[in-house]
Amino acid sequence: MPGRPLRAWVPQCASGPDAYSVAIVLLESLGSRWREVSLCVFATDSDGAALARARTGRYPLAAMKRVGRERRERFFIEEESRVRAQPFVREACRFVSHRLSDVPPFSRIDLIDAREILAEISSSKRAGVLQGFHAALAPGGLLLDPTGVAKEAPDLFEPAGSRGAYTARPVAVKGRRPLTAEGRLKESDERFHLLFSKAEDAVLVLDADTGLILRANDAAVRLYGWSAAELAGMRGTDLRAPRHTGRRPSVERRSPERVSLPQHRRKDGSVFPVDASSSLLLFHGRPCRLDIARDAAPRLRAESSRKGEQARDAFVGEIVHELRTPLEVIRGSAESLRGGGRGKHRKAFLGFIENQSLRMAGIVDRLLNLNAADDAKRVTKPLRIPLSAVLWEIAAGFAPLAKRRGVTLNIDIPATLDVLADPSDVPHIFGNLIDNAIKFSPRRGRVEVSARAAGREAIMSVRDTGGGIAPDDLEQVFERFFRADRTKKVKGTGLGLAIVQSIVRANGGHVAADNHPEGGAVFLVSLPLATEPRS
Ligand code: ADP
Repeated sequence: MPGRPLRAWVPQCASGPDAYSVAIVLLESLGSRWREVSLCVFATDSDGAALARARTGRYPLAAMKRVGRERRERFFIEEESRVRAQPFVREACRFVSHRLSDVPPFSRIDLIDAREILAEISSSKRAGVLQGFHAALAPGGLLLDPTGVAKEAPDLFEPAGSRGAYTARPVAVKGRRPLTAEGRLKESDERFHLLFSKAEDAVLVLDADTGLILRANDAAVRLYGWSAAELAGMRGTDLRAPRHTGRRPSVERRSPERVSLPQHRRKDGSVFPVDASSSLLLFHGRPCRLDIARDAAPRLRAESSRKGEQARDAFVGEIVHELRTPLEVIRGSAESLRGGGRGKHRKAFLGFIENQSLRMAGIVDRLLNLNAADDAKRVTKPLRIPLSAVLWEIAAGFAPLAKRRGVTLNIDIPATLDVLADPSDVPHIFGNLIDNAIKFSPRRGRVEVSARAAGREAIMSVRDTGGGIAPDDLEQVFERFFRADRTKKVKGTGLGLAIVQSIVRANGGHVAADNHPEGGAVFLVSLPLATEPRS
């Protein structure tokens, strides 16, 4: 079907297996054209929990018993004891809440897979459901009904050749007198009323000039908590949260999308983000605005959990990648030793094994720290920290390393400078930065730690006289597992700065990397200044 999307509908889809089956069969039948055709399989059910399960696309392995190996490998990913539909299959399926007896929420459908459902519903409801299917189908669209119930509506469906398949007949106009202008108006009014009252989204009709709400549907009453009569006396702007009428609420941490979405308020004062659209129309001859709104919170939650899942998947991938290299070296060395490595070689292989297992242990320790840093995001307990005293103590711990490397370590911090931070976090932050500064300094290098107050913050700087950081790498050094090419010879895990950034942010601060004009790297950390006098 070139030029237009291919649309199918799987009603009463429960937790979705039939919807995915239809998507897979259609993708297969599209063959190599599947990327060109936009396939959309709408799957509906009135059970919200079943729809939520369906959207995950996860099924027990046992559900795959009757699926051939080739299909399984192409369309599913194995996840421990479960399988999950591949992203391109999940993207083709849209799970929408809908009761079968309600007006279908879409039209121009090419295929409806009704399976056994028409035989399962009471005969009094069948006519309405068949009409709904007919209204949803594109002219000539196919209804798959192996139960043959479609034969009960010969004016709507005719057999399509193969058993259980029916095509939608064009709308019957035979024997119907042409509608008068008044009749047409009445019909369109009734259709509008039906769509308006049955819509799942909140629909408001407002006077285009005054903004007064003229009509509100049931979904609007449910969404906003005011009765239809109360809404009818209000203006559209009364439904917006204060921020949108000029006043800003207290600062909140929100996702960028949450910030950009309009915020509406309910009768009980609670505020929620909305997906909204607005259009102009003539309603009873009067210019009006039709506002449609839906609570966007469930969508945002689902999206953020999907993003979280993707980030976790990527992180696990990175860890696997990082651990694989030392493991390969260890395995290779062990194999060589088994092959009878002698003398000098034997020593070298044992050395490789020792070094690489130490590297792996280092990665695991850092991962534990990273985990703790993420926890810290939630539970920092800021206290007043006398910066100078604490940094002298940290520096004392690094004195033996600095001496071994021939590096001088200077601390220059005003004795009166205090910051607000979690006491257990400060040594982590500066320990990592000072360790790096010493590690990346040449012999006879210098590391300087200084600090100053700037407004309501303290700015700390850890500077070294090493080779510095390539300008393109300045942002990346805080990414997990990043190690600049020019420093690859120096041992490390690429996790230290990611931990530092996570901890600093959890304490309400900021960290940045730069190069000093005279050479060497500079790391700047800002933390809130403790402004109350010391007790
Ligand atoms: P690690 O030091 O264990 O590799 P980090 O996350 O602490 O991991 O640092 C990431 C990378 O950033 C380092 O590998 C190095 O390339 C670069 N880097 C960090 N600190 C410095 C520094 N003081 N001078 C030059 N490069 C640095």
